[in-house]
Amino acid sequence: MSDPVYLDYAATTPTDPRVAHQMGACLTVHGNFGNPASRSHAFGWQAEEAVESARAQMAKALHADVREIIWTSGATESDNLALKGPALAPGQTKRHIVTSAIEHKAVLDTCAYLETQGFEVTYLTPDAHGRVEASSVAQALREDTLIVSVMHVNNELGTINDVAAIGRICRNKNVLFHVDAAQSFGKLEINVESMCIDMLSISAHKIYGPKGVGCLYVRREPPIKMTPLFHGGGHEMGLRSGTLATHQVVGLGAAAELMVAHMHEEQVRLSTLRQRFLRHIHQIPGCVENSHPEHSLHAIVNLGFSGVDGETLLLALDDLAVSSGSACTSASVEPSYVLRAIGVPEEIAHASLRFSFGRFTTEEEVDLAGRRVAEVVGRLRAP
Ligand SMILES: *Cc1c(COP(=O)(O)O)cnc(C)c1O
Repeated sequence: MSDPVYLDYAATTPTDPRVAHQMGACLTVHGNFGNPASRSHAFGWQAEEAVESARAQMAKALHADVREIIWTSGATESDNLALKGPALAPGQTKRHIVTSAIEHKAVLDTCAYLETQGFEVTYLTPDAHGRVEASSVAQALREDTLIVSVMHVNNELGTINDVAAIGRICRNKNVLFHVDAAQSFGKLEINVESMCIDMLSISAHKIYGPKGVGCLYVRREPPIKMTPLFHGGGHEMGLRSGTLATHQVVGLGAAAELMVAHMHEEQVRLSTLRQRFLRHIHQIPGCVENSHPEHSLHAIVNLGFSGVDGETLLLALDDLAVSSGSACTSASVEPSYVLRAIGVPEEIAHASLRFSFGRFTTEEEVDLAGRRVAEVVGRLRAP
């Protein structure tokens, strides 16, 4: 049997061959293998140059300064650093954090940890399609609010938040604003200046880069007092010790540059694919769109199918690689906490699937997927 059709780009993406090629040049004895922190010879200088050129690519993509990019192991670490960093900084006295109930676990579990350390967390309920209203953020702010953390695009729904509006509210109240942009970077415009963002998390493997690398944008002016997660050689301005993985960092820089360079034409292509896919889906009666009808990323469609069992549906669709809920929680058979938080009834949540498209998705693939879903749902519903 041939491989299933891959429609799970929101879980991870394959590394673009152009990116892999650049990474490969940073590993072996004839390549750029030096330690970027080695100051005394050309091997180190060359590696440092590669790392700094990737930092410039990243900074440019975000309209940031190169000194504001901190390399990490991925968005999970970036989210941890963005929240624990300021919260646990010495002398920091504010005790309140605002986030939403449908953030990624990297944010939610970090908030839960901070609750054990004396912090109070407000978990905002988004609207029925997963949008966090700026007004609900405004209402939640207190005198002692330290950080607001709201994702740009939700990974299960594809729903887009108005981070610029939330950013303005936070800036006016002197509250730090962190954005998890793992799903939006390179797909939507991000300008950390105009959006009033203080910290922003990115992951390479969601943008056709390698797994195991990401970055955190950290605003320099005014400076944010942060404590590091790791202690050691003082790399990355003391915020992230550890020898930089040149090949990984080069991979992220190259992947980011490609995303931004092709953003507009790729979004048009993905929008066409989405419409094409939905034309098949709309043949199916009783299908619910969990994603936001208006403010949604083209590449992610979350659909609920009434009257079918979710597990059976996923098993029957064995020629499609899709996600029920998010990949991070698919080990358990609990309905997705995201769908639950936006009020999707339990039986629909169980029978909901996330389809996500990407750079290598073809029209043939979405046609095949659409037809298969229609056929299988029809068959499972037949008495
Ligand atoms: C994938 C993802 C993460 C985790 O990123 P890793 O690099 O895998 O740690 C965090 N937040 C969101 C929204 C994601 O989609």
